[in-house]
Amino acid sequence: MRRMTSQTPSTAGPNRARPQVRPTPEGWKQPMGPDGRPQLQFAQKPRVSQPPVHLADLTLAERQEKLKGMGLQGFRAKQLSVHYFQHFTTDPAKMTDLPAAQREELAEAMFPTLLTEVKRLVTDNGDTIKFLWRLFDGSLVESVLMRYPGRVTLCVSSQCGCGMNCPFCATGQNGLTRNMSAAEILDQIVQANRVIAEGGLKGSGRDGVHDAERVTNIVFMGMGEPLANYKRVMSAVHRMIDEAPEGLGMSARGITVSTVGLVPAINKLADEDIPITFALSLHAPDDELRDDLIPVNSRWKADEAIDAAYNYYRKTGRRVSIEYALIKDMNDHPWRAALLAKKLNARGRGWVHVNPIPLNPTPGSIWTSSEPEVMQEFLDILNDAGVPTTLRDTRGKEIDGACGQLAAAE
Ligand code: SF4
Repeated sequence: MRRMTSQTPSTAGPNRARPQVRPTPEGWKQPMGPDGRPQLQFAQKPRVSQPPVHLADLTLAERQEKLKGMGLQGFRAKQLSVHYFQHFTTDPAKMTDLPAAQREELAEAMFPTLLTEVKRLVTDNGDTIKFLWRLFDGSLVESVLMRYPGRVTLCVSSQCGCGMNCPFCATGQNGLTRNMSAAEILDQIVQANRVIAEGGLKGSGRDGVHDAERVTNIVFMGMGEPLANYKRVMSAVHRMIDEAPEGLGMSARGITVSTVGLVPAINKLADEDIPITFALSLHAPDDELRDDLIPVNSRWKADEAIDAAYNYYRKTGRRVSIEYALIKDMNDHPWRAALLAKKLNARGRGWVHVNPIPLNPTPGSIWTSSEPEVMQEFLDILNDAGVPTTLRDTRGKEIDGACGQLAAAE
């Protein structure tokens, strides 16, 4: 792996003794735009082929219409929806409430294959499963299933690749191929539910009483920038919370949509009137660093992103999460913790929660985790300033922490 470390002493803040590592990609070259800055790609490549329409792309009424249009009985849409959203099956042999002669035809009309499992890696004593899926066009995406006491969380992907070009991210290296369809997003959940139902998610901490037997929480923190695929992500969110047989009947409060800071889309999300959780991946409170760490910062600055997050809180009353990956000597300086606290408190109290997350320890890389005492100091500064801050756990770390690494390795 090529190292492109550039370390210069920090000139800002009281912590002059600590080095300042600059964000640069290691082992790959960041595509640059005509302005000499990392290229941003908000739209998918032209004329890219789209996945086939699946039952989960449609409302119940549209499913009925589609079947009728094919000369089939519209009312069968409800039965098919129950099989998919409640029994997690697309196998016609299991649909014994449908006439035997029509099962194949109905299933074929509504359930084109969207996700084919390529790899399944189990870790954390069976509490975590990382899936690698191949889509209809050969694109590879990942999802991670995690059991916690009383809940099961699935981290889903929302795009094939990503156009945000973050220098630390394997997913962003080849740009954005295409947006995932609503059904491709949802099928990650349905397939995970099927694995749980078949006993595939063991979990060492199960007590047999409080164990969730289906996915209860969704985090949009897999591959892609969810707000760059706004329409399909929102239609997937609707289908997650719609009651069966329209959708999965999940609680909106268990769904977290995260973004690197697409401000107009955050404001749009605030107007949706759905009580989902919003998370801003900030990773630096100062533009000087964030311009390089999160290239979209060249479009919307850290303060604009924080303003939009605060606006989300004001409109929805839902407390916002700030995600902050702690990277050794890059963004973990005490003065940055103090600046972050100052910026958050300047907007108000009680509206935000900070979730620092340590990177994997990667010796020799600039992208490595902060020292434990540095992390603790960072947390203490925020908590002491009255900003609730808790270190997030790093599930799936052994198999590889960052999104997109598995797909990149393939
Ligand atoms: S970190 Fe997220 S937004 Fe940035 S390139 Fe990777 S997937 Fe995209």
